[in-house]
Amino acid sequence: MLRTSEFWQLDEKFLMISPDKKLCTLTGMESLPESDSGYLGYAYLDDTMRIAFLGFCDEEDETYKFFDGDQVLVAQASMLPTMLVRIVKPTEELEKHPFVRGVLDFHESDLLLRCTLSLRQLDHLRDPLRPAILKAAWIRDEQILEKTFNESVDQYTEVLLAAYEQAEKEGIKAKDVEVEGEPEPLPVDAMTIEFVRITDLVPANNGTWRAVLLDNIPGTRKKKKGDDVAISMVTTTIEEEGRSYTMLFLEVDAPVEGTKINVAASKPFRLPWRIAYTLACPGCDFKETYYLGRSGEDRFMFKEIMEEIRRGKVDPAIAIDLVQRDDCEIDFSRELYRCRSCGTLDVKKRVRLITKDHTLSATYYCLECGERMSHVKRTHIASLDCPQCREQLNPVEESLWDGVDPN
Ligand SMILES: [Zn+2]
Ligand SMILES: [Zn+2]
Repeated sequence: MLRTSEFWQLDEKFLMISPDKKLCTLTGMESLPESDSGYLGYAYLDDTMRIAFLGFCDEEDETYKFFDGDQVLVAQASMLPTMLVRIVKPTEELEKHPFVRGVLDFHESDLLLRCTLSLRQLDHLRDPLRPAILKAAWIRDEQILEKTFNESVDQYTEVLLAAYEQAEKEGIKAKDVEVEGEPEPLPVDAMTIEFVRITDLVPANNGTWRAVLLDNIPGTRKKKKGDDVAISMVTTTIEEEGRSYTMLFLEVDAPVEGTKINVAASKPFRLPWRIAYTLACPGCDFKETYYLGRSGEDRFMFKEIMEEIRRGKVDPAIAIDLVQRDDCEIDFSRELYRCRSCGTLDVKKRVRLITKDHTLSATYYCLECGERMSHVKRTHIASLDCPQCREQLNPVEESLWDGVDPN
């Protein structure tokens, strides 16, 4: 059901849409050809969630056919009636559709903005129809509040000490002394918190975030609508509930940091080596050679990876670290990957981000069926199944290789 899904569950997803006569009667959709078998759709986020109708589909035999001449009809998801959809895996053919390619290129060119959309802990702060817009909090007179609280603590302590002294004189036990009005930090709803809309939230250098103000901030003129502003992201865990909440706060006095990426290639921690494995199937004609490894610094591959990162072809979590931290190194090596679903084998660059306290590995998806791929350890290369017929493959040759990227 389209309406009940959150934007992030559907963004960049291919859908099989059940046939619905009503669709062709909607404004702007009059030219949608009627179909008894259903439509192939593509959901994507472009300010609001949209659905592009790309062709017909047959849900029963899971086939599809693009409309003639790459015709595409786009509708706002919120305008569509509730309809039954099924998500289908993105194959290489589907992703090559010119309209889809255009969307993906645009999304990649907008990497920093897109990577904050991957932060699920911010979903409750987003505008449900326009998820790039978020609510950020501004606490007015934060210092005054803190001072007021500290003063009330001092007063209470004074009264308490006086009461103890009095009790001692009267021979009353200290634990029986009662003083009313124990000070507590002001409840959140007593503080003057203003919620202000922001957009273009992106990671910034020195572990910060930045955004653009969509409203003026009530009570201050330090920043106004349209200005860049520094943002802090604070996550609090509530032990009893076992849940954590994340809030965004406006930091009107903090400098707005840049978004430059500065990263080094990690020093190779193994000896420079490259091995080509040739695997052949005893049951069918499958025979492939996989060129794996990394040779020393391998400046050429590192340059390629950096170009891909700058073009936006990088996992969101890695992109955030690359901007926010200055201790990032990129490790890489050509490695074999195997699809968890269809068994397709493919060589990927295995990009890993290494910082002082954690490592993030890039994820790769199968070009045949769209399922996630797993890294194949060298020790397992001799025991892989044939992607065509499932017989165990024979390692027929192992050799060192040299030269530029064989692909
Ligand atoms: Zn085979
Ligand atoms: Zn696959």
